[in-house]
Formats: sequence, structure tokens, C-alpha cells
Amino acid sequence: MARIIVLGGGFGGVSAATELRRRIAADHEILLLDRSDTFLMGLRKLWALVGMGDLDGGRRFLAALETQGIQRLQTEIRSIDAAERRVVTNEGALGADFLIVALGAESRPDLVPGLAEHGHNVWDAAGVPALQARLVDFPGGDVVIAIAGMPYPCPPAPFECAMLLDDHFRRLGVRDVSSITVTTPKPILLPNAGADGSRWLAERLDERGIRYETGREVRGVEEGHIDFGDSVLGFDLLVGVPAHRPPEVVADCDLAGPGGWIHVDPGTFETHVADVFAIGDVTKITLANGLPLPKAGVMADLAGQRVAAAVAARISGESSPAPFDGQGYCFLEMSTSTAAKIQGEFYRAPEPLVRIAPESPDHATAKHRFEAERLDVWFGS
Ligand SMILES: Cc1cc2nc3c(=O)[nH]c(=O)nc-3n(C[C@H](O)[C@H](O)[C@H](O)COP(=O)(O)OP(=O)(O)OC[C@H]3O[C@@H](n4cnc5c(N)ncnc54)[C@H](O)[C@@H]3O)c2cc1C
Repeated sequence: MARIIVLGGGFGGVSAATELRRRIAADHEILLLDRSDTFLMGLRKLWALVGMGDLDGGRRFLAALETQGIQRLQTEIRSIDAAERRVVTNEGALGADFLIVALGAESRPDLVPGLAEHGHNVWDAAGVPALQARLVDFPGGDVVIAIAGMPYPCPPAPFECAMLLDDHFRRLGVRDVSSITVTTPKPILLPNAGADGSRWLAERLDERGIRYETGREVRGVEEGHIDFGDSVLGFDLLVGVPAHRPPEVVADCDLAGPGGWIHVDPGTFETHVADVFAIGDVTKITLANGLPLPKAGVMADLAGQRVAAAVAARISGESSPAPFDGQGYCFLEMSTSTAAKIQGEFYRAPEPLVRIAPESPDHATAKHRFEAERLDVWFGS
């Protein structure tokens, strides 16, 4: 009988484990490891800021997976030996026939001096309550959302945050005494959506009076201002989007490529070690135009499903499923009740093909449905 260890109980890990459980007989063992006892939907971090829901609404106990026959161990993973398909945890060493690494990426505000002290980091759930408290009766002021390093999960989210704040400030009646500015180190707003997609987004920001500045590398942050090296930008409230890095346990293991990220076959998500797969934010997949595949829950989910199908096929001796085609989508929230839909064929050469379906209440409803469906399929509620 086979034993599959899934490392990480986030978007990718839960998707892979639950899909695998549906596909293989109960006597094959699936063990999911995470230091946390809960799963949290990333998109809730922005919803919570503007009263669209709370974090707990998108949180589920990973123990709920046990009722489906998925074993779970809450533990710190201390080292990974992919060549031996072995991991060492706080509870001891564990060996497997297949490893699926889904350990995500860590937000690292410490990489920019002053960012952690002076900016709110809502890319980490622990940072949400403090910003939520400031926004509930925000009196108005200069708000800056600064992308302070690359990469970070969910490339459209800083712009989404700006538009949700615009809507929130209008409802509070303080929009006319507030400014909202988004800064990015990149030359265009949404590199993965190309020049046309970035222009489309710039027009949507213009319509709302949201400012944006490209090519802005955050060198440091001090009380009330950001230092870009050649200029400074003042703020009353700063949302800092930190660079993300692979967890140390990944960067130190025999799967780590440049920068510590795991490089995988883009069609199969298999690493250079047979029967060891990696999915989600912990991977780096370079597209035909040289840009990375965006880090997003929806991509981690699709990768998890593809890997589960491949592992199940290998166990039963069937032929491999078709390779992942690089197609994905996300909903870009443009107010508390509307969203646009961004659809990408990311593996197209020489450039990915990205289409944007404009703002509508239907897309906002579809985003809520996206969350509800996943929570239902994975956790049964
Ligand atoms: C503000 C915001 C909005 C977002 N909105 C969207 C959206 O609308 N749509 C979308 O598709 N995506 C969105 N995302 C992105 C999405 O949340 C991530 O891309 C997704 O969670 C990545 O899944 P993952 O499985 O790779 O990693 P994660 O979900 O981060 O899971 C990694 C898991 O590994 C565990 N772990 C790490 N190291 C260890 C260790 N050493 N030992 C034990 N456990 C460990 C962690 O505890 C964690 O549970 C958003 C993200 C943010 C921050």
C-alpha cells in the first residue's frame, strides 16, 4: 500500500489531499502535515478590512479532513530529504512513497528597513486586525499601498485593496479628504496581464481617482514616509505588500533552485526527484515571456488536482493524465459588490494570452461562490 505525505495544509495541500482521497482506495495512506491547525482562505484578508466578512468565515479546522480518511499531523516540518522521500518533523521522521510539497511562501517585511514597524502587513493574517481597527472609522488621510518587493501572492490584490478602500471611504464619507496611491517596483501595473491589461487597470484606477506610481523601489520606510531612493512619498496609513520568500525548510532542502524556490515541470509539477511533486506558491514556473506564473490560490488548487490525478494513476498503473495547460483565472474585486474576471492562458508562447471580462456584480457573486464551493468540497461546509 502506498503512503503519500502532503506537506502543507493551505490551498494547494488541501486541494491535493482531498482530490487524492477521492481517487485512491482507503487502504492507501494520505498524511497531511501543517504547523497550523486551521486552513484560511487568502481572499478573506481583504474582505475583513472593509466589512465584507471576517477571517473566521474562511477558516476551517484541518481536523475536519480526518472524517474523509486523511490523516493529519499538526507539526513543524524541520527538514525535507526529497531524494529519500523523507521528512523530519517535531514529532519525528516520516518516510513516504510520494511527497507533495505545498508549503507556500512567507511574507518578509524584514527585508525592507522600517516596513514592519511603519506599515500594515495584511498578506499575513496576523496583520489584519490592526488595520481593520484603523479602517472602521477612518477619519480620512493619505493612504499608500506599496508593493515593497517581488514576488508576492495574488498580483492583482494590492489594486483590489485600493479599490475596496475607495469604496469603503466613500461609504464612510471620507473619500474627499483621503488620497489613495498604489506604488509598484514594476514598469507596468500588472505584468502578468501585459501592457493592455495594465492599461485597462490604470483606467479603472483613474476613474476612481486612485493614483499609481510604477518603477518605485521601496528602499526604506520611516515614520510618515517611504524612501524610494530618488524621492519620498508621505503617508498617514501604509499598507506594505512585502516580498515573499520560500520557507527556510524548503530553501535548505535538496529541491531548492535559485532563490530557494522549487522548480518543477510546468505540465506535471514533478520535481527533479521522481514521485516528489511541488505545487502552489512555493514553486517557480517561468513562462515563455520570462515572467513567473502568478502565485494564486486558484493555480495552487489546479496544480493540486493535477498532481492528485497523476499520483492516483501511478498507484493504479494507469497512464498519466494530460499535462496542465496553464489556464487559470481570478476575480479582481473593484468594489464591495463588483468584480472583473481575469482569465489567462499562461503557457502560451511567445506571450501568455490574458483576457479581462469587465466589472459586474455577477463576477463578485462568482468569487463568493468560488470560496463557498471550495470550502464545501474540501471540508464539507
Ligand atoms: C490579500 C490576499 C488576497 C488573495 N486573494 C486571492 C484570490 O482572490 N484568489 C486566489 O486564487 N488567490 C488569492 N490569494 C493568494 C492565495 O492565498 C495563495 O496563493 C495560496 O494560499 C497559496 O497556496 P499554497 O498552498 O501554495 O500556500 P499556503 O496556502 O500559504 O499554504 C502553505 C501552508 O504550509 C504551512 N507551512 C509552511 N511551512 C511549514 C513548516 N515548516 N512546517 C509546517 N507547516 C508549514 C503553512 O502553515 C501553510 O498552511 C490571496 C492572497 C492574499 C495575501
